[in-house]
Amino acid sequence: MTDNNGPLYGDASMSAECTRRVFLKAAALAGAGTLAGCDGGAETAALREKAKRLGAGLDCSDVSALQPAEVSTRTDNEYRQHTERVDQFCLGCLNFEPNPVETACGACKTVRGPINPDGWCKQWTKVK
Ligand code: SF4
Repeated sequence: MTDNNGPLYGDASMSAECTRRVFLKAAALAGAGTLAGCDGGAETAALREKAKRLGAGLDCSDVSALQPAEVSTRTDNEYRQHTERVDQFCLGCLNFEPNPVETACGACKTVRGPINPDGWCKQWTKVK
């Protein structure tokens, strides 16, 4: 079971396939972090680590080329460059448009301007 805030751990509906998948991911990710659960929890944990690694050294705050209405898409949605959320971050968002150069800021279909893969805003939407 999941809600908008991510998987609910200890869910009795966890399938055998899910358990097997998590086990295999755990083996693949050994040493790369802890498991966060099923329903893509292992994938989310790996992606979260990648977002932190990519976003740590990026400054995606330059809005000097934006019009005021475009800047508002950032402020109105409470965009921030780094999120404290375990399972909600731009790299894992449906709206994120990664830069072909991994070490550069990406873009977003909703929020204008440079976007940090480690960022977050109120429009975060889980990739299905
Ligand atoms: S919608 Fe928000 S969380 Fe999603 S990529 Fe854009 S800025 Fe990041």
